[in-house]
Amino acid sequence: MSAGFSSFLYLISSVCFILGLKGLSSAATSRSGNLYAIFGMTIAILTTLLSPAVNHYQYILLAIMIGGSIGTLLAKKIEMTALPQLVAAFHSLVGLAAVLVAAAAFYSPQAFGIGAVQHIKTASLFEMSLGVIIGAITFTGSIVAFGKLQGFISGKPLQFAQQHVLNAALGVALIVLMVVFMISQSTFIFWTLIMVALVLGFLLILPIGGADMPVVVSMLNSYSGWAAAGIGFTLNNHVLIIVGALVGASGAILSYIMCKGMNRSIINVILGGFGGDSSANTNSSENHLNDKPIKASSAEDAAYMMQNAQNIIIVPGYGMAVAQAQHALREMADILKKSGARVRYAIHPVAGRMPGHMNVLLAEANVDYDDVLELEEINTDFSSTDVAFVIGANDITNPAAKTDKTSPIYGMPILDVENARTVFFVKRTLASGYAGVDNELFYGDNTMMVLGDAKKVCEDIIKALKESA
Ligand code: NDP
Repeated sequence: MSAGFSSFLYLISSVCFILGLKGLSSAATSRSGNLYAIFGMTIAILTTLLSPAVNHYQYILLAIMIGGSIGTLLAKKIEMTALPQLVAAFHSLVGLAAVLVAAAAFYSPQAFGIGAVQHIKTASLFEMSLGVIIGAITFTGSIVAFGKLQGFISGKPLQFAQQHVLNAALGVALIVLMVVFMISQSTFIFWTLIMVALVLGFLLILPIGGADMPVVVSMLNSYSGWAAAGIGFTLNNHVLIIVGALVGASGAILSYIMCKGMNRSIINVILGGFGGDSSANTNSSENHLNDKPIKASSAEDAAYMMQNAQNIIIVPGYGMAVAQAQHALREMADILKKSGARVRYAIHPVAGRMPGHMNVLLAEANVDYDDVLELEEINTDFSSTDVAFVIGANDITNPAAKTDKTSPIYGMPILDVENARTVFFVKRTLASGYAGVDNELFYGDNTMMVLGDAKKVCEDIIKALKESA
């Protein structure tokens, strides 16, 4: 295949990736977005395979079969709630791939058209060392993120004295090593550069608490994109440059959105928890408000109240995902809609444990996209709503975010469910949510607590609604 034609095909695949990203920005178009991305990746892989430089198909096919089988198996088996750690594990591989490709280019520069051993072009050395540094940081950083999310490493921020001084010293060392490497092209310096970057990746992520980990995963996603773009320059591969930049930029934007949604400083996250908040994710189950009385309610009460309501807003949270209650919830909402109520869903930007978590689950249950509204679209409507049905959500409704300056969630926008005439909280206990903060709403005058598993409660409500129909 001629170089011109393969550039043309790479361009088509790049356009597909852009259309894919565009599609993924809304639940309604996300399926077609995914198809565009798959199509683009297929073109990119085939174009690369058909390039004249490839002459050992058997190894490539073997690798595709092994990697493809592991990937398919994992994707089929993985629980929705464990996706953040899977993504972290995948990013570590992207980082490792960037390091390995750079090493291959360093040892066989002629195969990559960037010069000869000891006579590699300066620009290529620069791109190569940048790709290697970001790739190595992404590799160890993602492994730590995976370990923290999976529970292999403590979710608590692991800090020690002078940590930031050490990180800064390693950062400076990397810059010096990079310059020395570009001048000397020394194999020893090349591997020292990689080692220092591996250690820095480890140290950067270790001090970050579990509560910030999903933001870190998104940040590492961005790093892995930049690493790929760096290697794309070394290989003079346009599609790698474009895709790397797309991943890098979209990961950075997503991290920023998540930080805003969780009231975290993105600078703290990038700099490895510098001045970071360590109080989140204590996962405390003790509740300091426990001695206050709650209004315990039942599925039957909830069914009765909602049957007589005109406006209902459902607020799903992490517990809905754990209970896999989305199908029962949609059935419940459908029955209520049939009986004349206006039923909508309010989605908080960080509800659940990953961006878009609730949207994905509701889409899976075929909830109408028009009924699903973002925080800023629906928040003012709670005051004219009869029932707010909060199912498996906690932090995203907690008024402490507005009133308690010492709270780890202070400043996070919340869904103002307490403005509804009646609020139902469906959860198993009075325990706190992800941020480990008590929620005073459980004891509110207009709050009814329906304690139980989210799916079971929805099923009981459906039963009660059907019986009284
Ligand atoms: P929370 O973690 O605040 O609360 C979830 C609640 O669900 C818990 O209080 C729990 O109470 C309840 N629950 C758990 N299992 C069940 C079940 N089977 N049935 C019924 N209830 C159940 O979740 P939110 O969605 O309200 O808030 C998300 C939190 O996660 C925020 O703090 C956010 O910052 C954080 N976060 C979000 C990320 C994102 O990208 N979306 C990323 C990282 C963190 P109980 O045990 O009593 O049942």
